[in-house]
Amino acid sequence: MFKRILIANRGEIALRIIRACHELGVEAVCVYSTADKEAPYLRQADRAICIGPGPAKESYLNISRIIAAAEIADVDAIHPGYGFLSERPDFSQACRDCKIEFIGPSPEAMGKLGDKVECKRTARAAGVPVFPGSDGAVEEEEEAIRIASEIGFPVIIKASAGGGGRGMRVCHNEATLRSSIKQAQQEASAAFGNGAVFIEKFLEHARHVEVQCLGDKHGNAIHLWERDCSMQRRHQKIIEEAPAPNIDRTKLQVICEGAARLIKSVNYHGAATCEFLMDGKQNFYMLEVNTRVQVEHPVTEMITGVDIVKMSIMIAAGMPIPYKQSDISVRGHAMECRINAEDPDKNFRPSAGQIKTFEAPGGPGVRMDTHVVPGYTVPANYDSMIAKLIVHADDREQCISRMTRALGELHIEPIKTLTPLHQRLMENAGFREGGIDIHYLERLLKSLT
Ligand code: ADP
Repeated sequence: MFKRILIANRGEIALRIIRACHELGVEAVCVYSTADKEAPYLRQADRAICIGPGPAKESYLNISRIIAAAEIADVDAIHPGYGFLSERPDFSQACRDCKIEFIGPSPEAMGKLGDKVECKRTARAAGVPVFPGSDGAVEEEEEAIRIASEIGFPVIIKASAGGGGRGMRVCHNEATLRSSIKQAQQEASAAFGNGAVFIEKFLEHARHVEVQCLGDKHGNAIHLWERDCSMQRRHQKIIEEAPAPNIDRTKLQVICEGAARLIKSVNYHGAATCEFLMDGKQNFYMLEVNTRVQVEHPVTEMITGVDIVKMSIMIAAGMPIPYKQSDISVRGHAMECRINAEDPDKNFRPSAGQIKTFEAPGGPGVRMDTHVVPGYTVPANYDSMIAKLIVHADDREQCISRMTRALGELHIEPIKTLTPLHQRLMENAGFREGGIDIHYLERLLKSLT
């Protein structure tokens, strides 16, 4: 096992990784920007090193400063968490060049799955269903029209190097496709430094179902079943749960096994998530692979009992996954509400500032992953998520009752959070029935205004 790990991240996930390190008897070194210098989770680390000012480009996204901190602290490995540098092959490569273990996949595996065109090709080869569409990058207008007439409108143009919901355009007819393709290529080239775009079928009423996987350095790959993350606003997940309600378990098993096969085919090590969209007939199409731990990993931890963050560290240290696929069983139902510092009544405006009251819920089956304490000031520089409230119960109905009870115990003042929205959603008939689509929340919000 490693002696010391540097955590190249901040906030709740930094604290989550500190906890995993300490349970494994590993020292945790945090890096921080000046905007986070008072953050109390830094005191839980064995050492904390300032790497620059608030803007992420000058701190959490600055590879040379993070590597310098790793060398000063003499760490064996770096955990990137999610966001920031976690999906950058050049960061994984920089760690390798400096003989520091990157806790995650090799730059080669990351490159293969991170590029959307390459990822689709690899998925197809592994027998994982992908959206009908172009085989590779689309160069010419005529080629785009030919493919669209084969698969039928609507289609979506995507940037091969795109991410974070950017670089996508939906086209409902030939005229918009014609006028969009060149523009999409130019935009992709400006935004991602790679002008390659491709086309696939656009699904109008889709559910988002993703599969958690783990692969190790001994050729083993398993899945930890699925999560449903269909409650979204502007492609941002707000509620995640597992198992996915009202879907044929045999069909889920097929995509879960496919996902494990896919990561095995690229010799993947660490935690990965294969994201799928499902249509009204329960057909699945893979969207992309996230080559890192996800925000919503706790719901899988709650139903399987597997500690995904600890596993990612153990795998990087060269240990084999201590479970066979048949060891992974599912118990009960888990749900996560993201507590973002945003005002749901004011078009989700970010609500930064000092938190005076912070009362976290507790009791049976309740887990709160947060770095926030009373007196904490939410910096304006970063993502607005300040806490994740996760509950676990015997079944979905009891899970919703437990979440309702826990949300009622959560008091964060005076800043605004998504808590009242979550409370309304727990009572919403469509959500309670299970099986909403990814635009459900946006339609609901529109109908309320
Ligand atoms: P990113 O890497 O930018 O997150 P994804 O490929 O994961 O891009 O897509 C992000 C979101 O865009 C999906 O969650 C879904 O809401 C929508 N989307 C992407 N592809 C399709 C598609 N073919 N049909 C319908 N919606 C799609």
